[in-house]
Amino acid sequence: MSEHIFHGKLIPDSDWYDWRWQFRNRITTVAELTESIDLTEQEKQEITQCLGKFRMAITPYYASLMDPTDRNCPIRMQAVPSNLENRILPCEMADPLNEEGESPVPGIVHRYPDRVLFLVTHQCSMYCRHCTRRRLVGEEDMVISDKEIDTAVEYIRSKEEIRDVLISGGDPLTMSDEKLEHILKKLRSIEHVEIIRIGTRVPVVLPMRITLELTNMLRNYEPIWINTHFNHPKEITKDSMDACARLVDAGIPLGNQSVLLRGINDSTDIMKDLLLKLVKNRIRPYYLYQCDLSQGLGHFRTRVETGIEMIHHLQGYISGYAIPKFVIDAPGGGGKIPVNPEYIISIDDNEVVMRNYKGDLYTYPQPPDIRYEKEFHLNAREVCDENDNLHNP
Ligand SMILES: *Cc1c(COP(=O)(O)O)cnc(C)c1O
Ligand code: SF4
Repeated sequence: MSEHIFHGKLIPDSDWYDWRWQFRNRITTVAELTESIDLTEQEKQEITQCLGKFRMAITPYYASLMDPTDRNCPIRMQAVPSNLENRILPCEMADPLNEEGESPVPGIVHRYPDRVLFLVTHQCSMYCRHCTRRRLVGEEDMVISDKEIDTAVEYIRSKEEIRDVLISGGDPLTMSDEKLEHILKKLRSIEHVEIIRIGTRVPVVLPMRITLELTNMLRNYEPIWINTHFNHPKEITKDSMDACARLVDAGIPLGNQSVLLRGINDSTDIMKDLLLKLVKNRIRPYYLYQCDLSQGLGHFRTRVETGIEMIHHLQGYISGYAIPKFVIDAPGGGGKIPVNPEYIISIDDNEVVMRNYKGDLYTYPQPPDIRYEKEFHLNAREVCDENDNLHNP
């Protein structure tokens, strides 16, 4: 095992690999932060100003990945506040996805017909500067009561159309195994709940949380799918890879959701590196999100064309398994909308003209017109010829 130095002290493995030690020793103040990275007096002031709006917490593990001198380090940019967060644009909102508007009971967002989002905690192990739910997440004592959990579970029980429950937050894996198991057990007692998903950033920012006790507990409530949140290849470390392997080995399919972030992962080369590393570790890239319109995130947003171009440069060039769906979560609460490069040049009754990934054109003939076929008792080949004559006299 390698040596771990944190704030000038040698940390024994028994502490470093204890997720509760990591959690207790998170960096939450500017004074602590100066022990890990170089900061100017002005930066210290600016960070202090930001902390009033959205708190900071960085696990010693995640902090160990930060470059102490490089302000553009992708790890540092996701974890350390910037004065740009104080700039709030008129189009930015506290709740850009209208989650409150589609919440029938506290903790539940029911937007789609067959599935719900179940927000079980507001706590995270690391507070991402680009968090969509920064309106909720990170407030000091925001715990969700057992009573609220019960009410949410009863809502799910009362709606037979809900077959998929997505447990999110905050980060559900900041809860104890016991509390999480309590929720899973209740959900599994509902017959119409077919799959349970957990959204968590723990494998990325606190990989030691994925213990054998946790995976053994999760096994009892299968099928469980987990979506994690890697944004940059620098986050793929021996520890994070091992954590993901423990989950997959426990029979949990792993997906990944990334957010496209200016200056962090908005280059095709960085994204390709990340995606290939994920697949190599049995993690299936699921969504690539356009950054939401939450307050103070303007500096992270890229133009929508950046994401479309990125998919254009990946599709066809690397395994389909490595390519996520690029989506915009519609402002105001329309749900996730896939945005893609255009492959269809034209489409009519006769044929579809498409371009492939290299830009070459191909034609696919439409099926024969069934009514026409019945009327004249023609075989399929003749119908094709007839159709050609009909549409291209
Ligand atoms: C993202 C999301 C889901 C899950 O959507 P999938 O496309 O099935 O992954 C469900 N409910 C809400 C409110 C969501 O935002
Ligand atoms: S882990 Fe998720 S919920 Fe928590 S701060 Fe990061 S993006 Fe927000």
